[in-house]
Order: sequence, then structure tokens, then C-alpha cells
Amino acid sequence: MRQFQFPYENEDKFVNSLRKIKQWCNSSVTSSVLFQIYTYTLNRPKVETVCAIIEKEMPDSYIIGCSTSGNILFGDYCFSEVVVVCTVFEYFTTKLKLLQFPINQENANEVANSLIREVEVTPWCKCVMCYTTMRGISTSDFCDELKNLPDHIQFFGGGAMNIDMNSNYAFVFSSVGTISDHSIVFALMGGEDFNVESTYLTGWKPLGRNLLVTKAKGPVLYELEGKPAYETYYKYLNIKNDEHFFKNTLEFPFFYEHNGINILRAPTAAMEDGSLIMTADMEENVKARIAYGDPWTILKNVDEEALKLKDFIPEALFVFSCAARKTFWGEEEAGKETKPFQSLAPTSGFYTSGEFLRTNGNVNQHNVTLVIAAMREGKRNLDKIPEAELNEQEFSGSVSMINRLATFIQAATEELEEANEQLRLAAIIDGLTQVYNRREIQRRIIEEVDEANKAYNSGSAGKENCLIMMDIDDFKHVNDAYGHQKGDEVLQKLAEMMKTIATQNVPGSSVGRWGGEEFMILLPDTGVKKASVIAELLRVNFQTIDFGEAPSQTISVGVTQMISNEDPDTYCMRVDTALYQGKRNGKNQVVIC
Ligand code: GH3
Ligand code: MG
Ligand code: MG
Repeated sequence: MRQFQFPYENEDKFVNSLRKIKQWCNSSVTSSVLFQIYTYTLNRPKVETVCAIIEKEMPDSYIIGCSTSGNILFGDYCFSEVVVVCTVFEYFTTKLKLLQFPINQENANEVANSLIREVEVTPWCKCVMCYTTMRGISTSDFCDELKNLPDHIQFFGGGAMNIDMNSNYAFVFSSVGTISDHSIVFALMGGEDFNVESTYLTGWKPLGRNLLVTKAKGPVLYELEGKPAYETYYKYLNIKNDEHFFKNTLEFPFFYEHNGINILRAPTAAMEDGSLIMTADMEENVKARIAYGDPWTILKNVDEEALKLKDFIPEALFVFSCAARKTFWGEEEAGKETKPFQSLAPTSGFYTSGEFLRTNGNVNQHNVTLVIAAMREGKRNLDKIPEAELNEQEFSGSVSMINRLATFIQAATEELEEANEQLRLAAIIDGLTQVYNRREIQRRIIEEVDEANKAYNSGSAGKENCLIMMDIDDFKHVNDAYGHQKGDEVLQKLAEMMKTIATQNVPGSSVGRWGGEEFMILLPDTGVKKASVIAELLRVNFQTIDFGEAPSQTISVGVTQMISNEDPDTYCMRVDTALYQGKRNGKNQVVIC
């Protein structure tokens, strides 16, 4: 694999460059030639000219390209309007196939299926690179569908864009289609000597506490923790909803967990109702965390990733970097995060409106992320392991102030979260027996009764549940004869046994301490038959517990099933009546009511 990268200047110079490439091809063993053309303007005539010249000079070559938010050549930001990356494959086994489909919100799923079918009949295929117009399209379903690509297929690419961040207009093109502002281009690549590795990095780190996404639809993030999402930015970062909002929030996008990995989403605008328009879809009921980006952390990540790719011994690297990263660094400095890759192999690519990558079988659309695809033909030549030029020299091991402060906030937040969790548990758990306290078990019973009544009244099949209540027989005697401490031990051992038996038999069950030596068990989705068996199990098991010098003890147990539309108090009183029936009948027995 051999690469030629150059900016397009004018027709004559371009024809000259192509002829030199042809000459090189003629003097070497080559199989196919791929041209990637990137332009940050929307200059269609220029693109048409470039494509026409290639088609005339090298008619057998493949062409793909798109409009971008900035071009990357030789691992650096390139200020030229149009750039050309020409990859010459040198193994006859290496194969390429291009596809171009119209794409819109309605047919995105069908496009994904068409690709899957095509890949399935292309046995040599190892990866798919894609360029797509996508602004205004929700890509969630498209990405979900691509899970069904054969397991071994790598998938990566980027969304087309243009230099104006506020404009949705973009186009893609290829030698199998026309220049289109509603299309997706796929390049299938593979062959037995073709090797590919794809990865991503963000460099952004989580900051502060988890916030629950309570309302979101498509790319609109309405609420976090029940409050308008914008308030988070104002409260924690003092970012105002003015014309600088996009730039100011760029350093602080949200992380959320999707398909088991952290995905970044940046807000592009705050609306009057306090909702945020995000760079792509977010989900409800996931936890989101503000993230921060600082140059030191990002470049450290870049160095780490470059070191990992080094051993692959790439011959060419293709990068898809979020336009937000370019804005974050500024055009002059943006190359800092791509240059270390250039020290490994020729690195080209563009700034995108969204980055695609398949990770653990799932295709995800990222934002604020750098996706990297490394390619090589043939085996690794261990004599050719490249020397990586890293950024570390520039930072000489020091840590930025923001990194230290963020570490401080993160550590303090984790301590607070831990303390909060302990407080939460202390408020609902009984200290002596470690089962729920009276208030919590009551709350759970009320909740369960409410749910069951709602289900019953909405006509769906009755959701049955049962209560088991028990009381230790003649417990006063244990305290009187063996001391209060022995009494406590009896209570603890009973509680432990109840928890074990209840969760083993009904995983969603709740055990609570109702009063001194009275306990209550709530069994959801359980009928009275099963509940009685569990009650009897408790009674029999308790008798066998050894309390040292104190003799074995017994319990009396009441069991009842909830009746539709009754209130929680009536329900609890009935099980209490059953229990005292057992006491009156001579104790150490189960009474069902
Ligand atoms: P019955 O069979 O009728 O239930 O008789 P009982 O002796 O078990 O019932 P009673 O209600 O007369 O006595 C309950 C005793 O439980 C009284 C109280 O001192 C004891 N108790 C309540 N809470 C605790 C506790 O946390 N630890 C200890 N050791 N004893 C407790
Ligand atoms: Mg008792
Ligand atoms: Mg009692």
C-alpha cells in the first residue's frame, strides 16, 4: 500500500500529479487505486472537475469523497480547499467495492439492510468505510441495524459537513454515483493480505456526578433529574444561554453510556424551554455526566493510542475527527492530536459532523471523538516498527491545572456519592437486623398494592402478591433468661435466614422488621400456595438454628394474599390477624387467612 496526498491547486498541476502516480504504478506491482477527495467548501463544479480528470487519466480507479468541516493531510490541518488522497494497493488479493445509496430518515434502515446483504455476498470484505450526509437525520435505528453485519466486519466513517458549523448542508460523492446532499457512500475493502484495525479516542474525561436523563427524544435533551437540561450548564459551569453557548459548552459535552461504552454528545443550542439540542440522539433513563476536555489530557490519550497502533505497523491511517475538536483546538493547533499518527504512517481524513465506529459488534455514532482506521497489506514486517513521535516531550510529564482540579472534583464527588449511598441505606435499613425498617417495608407494600390495583383496574391480568408476617414465640423469655444480647443474636439469625429463603424463592421479595420481634415479608408475583410453602419453610428452618446456651426457638407465622382493590392497611391487618390466630392456637405454626 502506497499513498500520495496533495492539495488540489489547478487542473494542470493535478494532471501532472496523476501522471506521476501512473508512472509509479506502471513501474510497480499494483492492484487498485482509491481516491479520497475532501473539500471544506460546497464547490460542486470544482469537485466535478477533479473527478472528471481522474476518470480521464485513471479510468479504473475508485473515487469517494465528501464535503467536510476541514481537511487533514499528512496528519495536520490542511488549509487547502480541496485535498486528494490517493491510495495504491500493491497486493492483487486486495479488493474494493463502492456503493452509494440515497439516504433519508425513512429509508435509513433499508440502506443498512442493503449494505448487510451486500457484505454477506462479498466474502473477501473485511471493513466498510462510510461517508454520509446526516445532519438532521436520527442515526440510532441505522446504527442499531448495522449490529447485524457479519461479526468480523469493521465499520468506520464520518458525516459530511461544510466549514460553516451552523449549516446543515453537505454532500458526498463517488465514482458509482453523483454528487448528492442526501446520500451515503460505502467503500468495502478486504482481501486475504489486507489488514485493518479501527479504534477511537476522545480525551474527554467525566467530571462531577451522574445525572439521570429524565426526558429526551431524538437529539433533544429536555430534562436532567426532572429539571430543564440547560440549568445544568448554568448551575455547574455558569454558562449563559447567549451567542457563545456552543463554543462554551464544547469543552463540556455530556458522556453517556450506550452499548457499554462512553459516548459524547455536545449541545448545539439551548432552547427557550431550557431543552438542549444535542449533536445527535440521546436516550431516556440513562445516566449522563458532564465531561471536560483539556489539551493535556487529550494529547496524553493521543500518545497512548498512537503507541497502541504502532505495533500494527500501519501503512496508512484514516482519521475522522469531530468538527468540535477542530473548534476546540483552533485550526492552527488542531494538528497536535493527529501528528503522532503521521509519525506511524501517512495520515489523512477530515473533520466530521459525526463519527461512526463499530465497537464490540455495535455500530455507534459518536461526537467530539476521533475515529482512526489503520490499514496494511501483507504481514507485519517487524524490522519496520515505526518510531512514534509523541506529544509527551511538549508536556514533559507535568499535569495541567484543570486536570488536577478535575481529579479533585471527581474524587470528592465519588466520596460524596458513597456517603449519600450510606445515608440512603441508613434511612431504610434496620441497624440491628439489616433488613428494611418499618417505614421502608410499609412503603414497598403500599407501592405493590397500588401497582396491583392499577393493573386490576386497567383490565390486565391480576398481579398477585402475598404477605408473610411472623413473630418469635415467647421471646421475652430469651431476654429474661439469657440476656438482651442473646435476644439480639436470635433476631439477627432469624433476619438472615428470612432474607436467604425469601430471595431464593422470590427474587423480588422484600424483608422488613415490623416491630421488636415481628417481621414482614412482601412477595410480589406470588400466590398464596407458594407463599404458604415459603412460610412453612421459614418456620421449620428457624427451629433448627443453634443459639448456643439458649435453646432452639420457634415462630408463629401468618400468610395472606392481596385481594383486588383493597387498601394496604386492610391487607396488613389481615396477615396480622392470621399471625395472632397462630399464637392463640398454641404458637409454632403457620396460619393462612
Ligand atoms: P409471644 O409468643 O406472645 O409473642 O410472646 P413474646 O414474649 O414473644 O411477646 P412480647 O410482646 O410479650 O415480648 C416481646 C419482647 O421482645 C419484649 C422485648 O423486650 C423484646 N424485644 C423487642 N425488641 C428487641 C430487641 O431489639 N432486642 C431484644 N433483645 N429484645 C427485644
Ligand atoms: Mg413474640
Ligand atoms: Mg411481639
